[in-house]
Order: sequence, then structure tokens, then C-alpha cells
Amino acid sequence: MDFRFTPEQEAFRQELRQFLRQEIPPEWEAGEFEVGSDEEWELSRQFQKKLAQKGWLVPHWPKEYGGANMGLWEQMVLREELGYHRAPLGGALFGVNMLGPILMLYGTEEQKREHLPPIARAEVIWCQGYSEPGAGSDLAGLQTRAVREGDEYVVNGQKIWTTGAHRADWIFFLARTDPTAPKHKGISFFIAPMNTPGIRVQPLINMAGRMGFNQVFFEDARVPARNLVGGENQGWYIGAALLDFERSGIGAVAGLKRDIDDLVQYARETTVGDRRLIEEPRVRYALAERAIEVEVGRYLSYRVTSMQARGQIPNAEASMSKLYSSELAQRLANTGVHVMGLYGQVRPESRRWARLYGRFIMAYMMTVASTIAGGTSEIQRNVIAIRGLGLPRG
Ligand SMILES: Cc1cc2nc3c(=O)[nH]c(=O)nc-3n(C[C@H](O)[C@H](O)[C@H](O)COP(=O)(O)OP(=O)(O)OC[C@H]3O[C@@H](n4cnc5c(N)ncnc54)[C@H](O)[C@@H]3O)c2cc1C
Repeated sequence: MDFRFTPEQEAFRQELRQFLRQEIPPEWEAGEFEVGSDEEWELSRQFQKKLAQKGWLVPHWPKEYGGANMGLWEQMVLREELGYHRAPLGGALFGVNMLGPILMLYGTEEQKREHLPPIARAEVIWCQGYSEPGAGSDLAGLQTRAVREGDEYVVNGQKIWTTGAHRADWIFFLARTDPTAPKHKGISFFIAPMNTPGIRVQPLINMAGRMGFNQVFFEDARVPARNLVGGENQGWYIGAALLDFERSGIGAVAGLKRDIDDLVQYARETTVGDRRLIEEPRVRYALAERAIEVEVGRYLSYRVTSMQARGQIPNAEASMSKLYSSELAQRLANTGVHVMGLYGQVRPESRRWARLYGRFIMAYMMTVASTIAGGTSEIQRNVIAIRGLGLPRG
């Protein structure tokens, strides 16, 4: 097997690196973990617009919708470089990776013309209203109701863990349109502007003290019937297709590669007594182990891409990649905190004492969520067991 990229792909990588070095502002390196402050949000929006001008925000989309018609391996290179450089993509990915591809498959011409170009130009930010207090892994159990009244649906219910809802312009969401049907068959997929009267957002603070996700309440919110995507009661199939796009999200491992590179550099430059940290056996072994795991994660994501490039649909393979990289993110954060000793506990706000911008203590807290968001590790293991190994359902 030949793992080398072609000379053209390598040239593209160099072009990207130059662009990213030029366009990612230095303040971003010291920035928050999630786009927290208004300044950071603005900074990330500006960056996304520059990326969009190159066609690199939606490289996988056809040119007519603002994409670059790019091949899968070129996309992989792009995602690797964006991940490695910690590019501020923020809330853009809900439109780019999830809603956009869904509208291309199931949207009406009118919906495509109205919504795809603004996503491609980084003008409109979306959020995903799937999970509810009683419906996460068992998403089909969702209770939000949409009742048709003339040309509108009246929506009532509650969503939770809605990432970026406090910043988003639009939401795509699932609601029950036929309560008498079996639970997978009575659900529809809708889109709505966040400023619709009756949609209310209540931010939630996560354990790292950051505002990322929210509760979203629908209280007699009126959604025009033309905002139904696909047919009524077809939402489950559309929503599930969207999850496939979500899980095949590759390139996350590239961010971990950057973390291990930074840690190695830190351990080389830091002395403890008369020895450099990197000479400590416990530090060397831990870093070596994580570095090997990052490489394994990279090849698992290459496998997903290579299947897609051959026209196959990765399913258990996407779950393996998601499972491995999210658990690795937790191990790596743990290693970072331990390698840095007491400095490992200093948060970014403490600019004077924080090392590596307090990134690892933040990662230590934030990555707890990585094995929950986008489908828990248990759910990924179920997928691998049933669809990958052919084991019977439990
Ligand atoms: C940071 C973050 C961001 C998120 N962003 C969004 C978002 O933008 N939009 C959105 O809609 N949702 C979002 N979510 C929600 C996320 O999709 C759910 O949290 C996730 O699907 C798990 O659902 P739950 O929290 O209801 O847990 P549950 O489904 O209640 O699970 C509880 C526990 O039971 C286990 N479990 C459940 N079912 C099974 C089973 N069949 N077999 C074995 N074990 C099982 C789970 O693995 C877990 O350990 C986000 C979550 C996080 C943490």
C-alpha cells in the first residue's frame, strides 16, 4: 500500500499552509476553546469568509453552489491542514458538513437556491436541534411536536445540547408530526430562522466554564410548511443520513497531531532540575505512546476516506475512527496535564502562568464531551459490533 500523496496534492498542502499562516491571526493561538467572546466570534467569521472566497469552506460541494468540486483526497489534505493549524471554523460546520449535503439530496430547488449559497459564502450559521432531554442515543423517542395548521406548522417542545444556538441564524430540527405512527415513522425534518417568534434559547455553561451549547424551547413557534425538508414523516431517514455525514467527519486527528507536536516541543524546552523534561523516562514513554496512537488515528481516518474515494459508504469504519479519535483526545489531554505538572492545571485566563495557553487543562475538561457528542462511545461500539462484526443485536 502506498500512503504517499501525489505531487499535486503536496503542492496544494504547501499552498494551504501558506494561506493559513497568513490568515489565521496570531491572537487566535491564544484564544478560547470555543468561540466564546464576541471578538473571537467576529475573528472566526472573518477567517471563514476568506476561506470561502477560495472555495475552501465547502470544497466538497459542486461549483454551482459555491464549492470547489474537489476530490476526496484533496479534501482530506484540506481538513488535515485546517485541523493542524486549529483554524477557527466554529459554527460554520453545521451548515457546511450537515445541512448543505442534506439539502442537496432532499431539498427542493427553492430551498437549495435560498440556503446553499449563503452557507458557502460563510454568511449564515446553522445549529442542529436533534437531542431532547429524553432523546439522545434513542433519538427516535423525541417528543417535540409539529402540528400542521394551513400553510404552517405549530411547533412545541424542547431541544437540549444545541451547540451554538446562541450564535446561529437558522436551526434544522426534528419534530414529531404523527404521534400515532411507530416512533421512527412519525418524524419530520424542518428548518427555521432562530428569530422566529416562539423560539427561545437558554445557554448552558459547560464544566470548563464555557458557553457552547444551549437549551432551545419551541413555544407555539410557527414554521412555514415550505420549510419542511423531504416529505412529511420522512424526517427519520433524512436525519439519519445527516448523522452519517456528521460521523464521517475526518481530520479531527490532525488537531491531536498538533497537540502532541506542541507537547514534545514543550518537553524539549523545559528543564526540571538539571534535566530536560524530555529526558524523563515517564515523559518520553507517555509522549511516544500518544504519538503512535495519533498515527493509528490518522490511518483509521485515511481508511474512511479511501472507502469514500472508492464509492463505498463507511459505516462501522466511520464509527471506529470516531470512537478511537475521541478516546485518544481524552488520553492525550490527560498526558498533557501530567507532563506539565502543576503548570498543567493553570487555565488560559491566567496569562502569566499558563503554559501552551492553558490548552491542556481546557482539553482535559472539554474532551469529556467528545465521547458523548455525535453519538456516545457505547453507541459507536454497538455499530461496530452489529454492522462491522456481524454480531447479533443485544
Ligand atoms: C459537547 C456536546 C455537543 C452537542 N451538540 C449537540 C447539537 O448541536 N445538537 C444536538 O442535537 N445534540 C447535541 N449533543 C447531544 C448528543 O448528541 C447527545 O448527548 C448524545 O447523543 C447522547 O445522548 P444523551 O446525552 O441523551 O445520553 P443517553 O442517550 O441518555 O445516554 C446515557 C448513557 O447511556 C448509554 N446508552 C444509551 N443507549 C445505549 C445503548 N443502546 N447501548 C449501550 N449504551 C447506551 C450512553 O452511551 C450513555 O453512556 C451534544 C452533546 C455534547 C456533549
